Amino acid sequence: MNSHAAQIAERLAAVNDRLRAVGGENITVIGVAKSFPAEAVIAAAMAGITDIGESYAQEFVAKHAAVDELLSDAPSLMASPVRWHFIGGLQRNKVRKIAHLVDLWHSVDRPSLATEIAKHAPGASVLLQVDISGEDQKKGCPPDELDALMSTAVDAGLQVVGLMGMPILAEPEAARPGFRMLRELADSYELSEVSMGMSGDLEVAVEEGATIVRVGSALFGPRQ
Ligand SMILES: *Cc1c(COP(=O)(O)O)cnc(C)c1O
Repeated sequence: MNSHAAQIAERLAAVNDRLRAVGGENITVIGVAKSFPAEAVIAAAMAGITDIGESYAQEFVAKHAAVDELLSDAPSLMASPVRWHFIGGLQRNKVRKIAHLVDLWHSVDRPSLATEIAKHAPGASVLLQVDISGEDQKKGCPPDELDALMSTAVDAGLQVVGLMGMPILAEPEAARPGFRMLRELADSYELSEVSMGMSGDLEVAVEEGATIVRVGSALFGPRQ
C-alpha cells in the first residue's frame, strides 16, 4: 500500500471509531472526493470505501474516466467496483452528461430536476434533498414542498429511496434539530435512507438516524 492509501486507511479507522462510539457501525460511509484526484478514490477503495461522492458534474466526469483508466492498468487494485453518488447542486443541463455514471442521486431538490433525471436515467434511485438549514439558503426543497416533489419524482418513474439534507455550517449541535426533522420526514414517507452528517457532525447525524454519512475532509484531508 502506498503512503497515500495508508493515510486514508488510518483516517478511515478514526472515522469508524467515531461512528462506533455512537452505535453507527452499519452506516454507509461515502467518501466525498471533490477536489481530490482519481488516485485518492482508488486509495479509498483499497481501504474499503467504495461509495464515492462527487459534487461537480465536470469534475465527476473527468475523475470517473481517470479512475476507469487507472483500473484498466491494474484491475486488481479494487476488489469491488465504486458506487458513485452525485451529491452537489445540479443544473438541469448537466444531467445528461452524468446520467449514465451516477448510482445514487442525493441532490434532487426540485421537480424540474427530477423530471430531467428520469428522462436520461429512467428508474434511477434518488434521494430528495430537503432544506434543513431553517434559513433561506436554497439548499434543498422547502419541507412544505416535499409532497409535490415526491409526487413528481414517483410519477416520473424514479425510485425515491430516501432523503438528504445539509445543515448550515455551524457547531455540530446546531444541526441536531434539522437532522431530527429530516429523519421524521423520511419516516413519514416510509423511506429507508437518510443521507446526513459530514466530517464535522457525523456523530449528531447518526444519533438522529442517519443511514448514510458523507465524509470528505476527515477521510481525504483538507481540501485545496
Ligand atoms: C463537501 C461535501 C461533503 C463533505 O464535507 P466534509 O465537511 O469535508 O466532510 C458532504 N456533503 C456535501 C453535499 C458536500 O458538498
